Amino acid sequence: MIYLDYAATTPLNRDVYEAYIKLLKNYFANADSAYSLGYQVSGLIEKSREHIASMLKIQPQEIIFTSCASEANNMAIKGACFQYSNRGKHIITTKIEHSSVDASFKQMAEVFGFEVDYLDVDNQGMIDLQVLENMIREDTILVSTMYVNNEIGSILPVSLIADIIHRKNPKTRYHVDMVQALGKIPINLKGIDLASFSAHKIYGLKGSGLLYKNHRTLLIPLITAGQQEYGLRGGTSDSAKDIVFAKTLRLALEAQQEHYDYVIELNQYLREELKKREAVFINSPKNASPYLLNFSVPHYKPEVLVHYLETSDIYLSARSACTSKKQDISHTLQATAINEEIGLSALRLSLSHLTQKEELKIFIKALDQALTEVKKQR
Ligand code: PLP
Repeated sequence: MIYLDYAATTPLNRDVYEAYIKLLKNYFANADSAYSLGYQVSGLIEKSREHIASMLKIQPQEIIFTSCASEANNMAIKGACFQYSNRGKHIITTKIEHSSVDASFKQMAEVFGFEVDYLDVDNQGMIDLQVLENMIREDTILVSTMYVNNEIGSILPVSLIADIIHRKNPKTRYHVDMVQALGKIPINLKGIDLASFSAHKIYGLKGSGLLYKNHRTLLIPLITAGQQEYGLRGGTSDSAKDIVFAKTLRLALEAQQEHYDYVIELNQYLREELKKREAVFINSPKNASPYLLNFSVPHYKPEVLVHYLETSDIYLSARSACTSKKQDISHTLQATAINEEIGLSALRLSLSHLTQKEELKIFIKALDQALTEVKKQR
């Protein structure tokens, strides 16, 4: 099997798996039970929180464990909107966000009467910082952008964006979806109020995420129940997942630079090979995250190419996994592609330190074969 869809999810790291199984077996008690078994589990959760906080250079009480990054995005956006709605109902995001951000903004507009402004991006997946500054008003309570785009890999200047937002309106909160950045490029949370992360994109468990919320930011909880997660997310803690997140993150960060240097070479190889093919157009900007490489083969249906390659046991995506059932143009490509045909024929490769150059050679050969055997559909 040649798996080239690591942005959708990653295989589980063996050490993480083993630690998780041990935790499930030995620490099954409810973390909130008021006896020693419960205290042991809550002690381990708090240790994990402290360890994660020290790696991300934040405070432990600024971490909320969630079931995934989609939940963290919902919690941040809706929680902040409800919390600060007495100050204003104007919120800002971009046209290239993950569906969990996009759908949250749409719901805030359609169901709760918030006014949403969407930032355009250029074909490099970049927003115009001057346009952002002009958009921020007295009643703007929240801005949300991603750090690394999950389809084309563009990297937004989040520290600069944070400065602009807080200079223009110190009361506006800034949320960043950092899912495709964690364990891949450096993360600096200074100036950022809320940030979302996921474990399964960094060789950790599915159903495990976290939200960073700095001390000056308040949220209305979406799941009201017990005292868990500072009262911001009720429900019995998924303790083994929360505990093992620290190990998952440590392993990812320890190897981050080494993996980056390796993956950048893979990316360069792929770019050079794809550039040689006249039928292919590369959508990812030059300075994108090397973990993602998006390209189009105009006039071919991407789903047909994906299925053709699958017959050779090669796996890649036509678009992000969360929207893969849709047949139309992805909203990121709609915002960034230079024309509709390019947008409609996009494919996403996503790489890992586990990817072998030999696998990429096989992929390139299979792609050439696909382009001669598959009929152009448009
Ligand atoms: N944000 C981005 C940029 C993503 O790529 C993903 C994963 O698809 C998510 C959020 C959602 O992550 P999760 O699967 O943990 O909900």
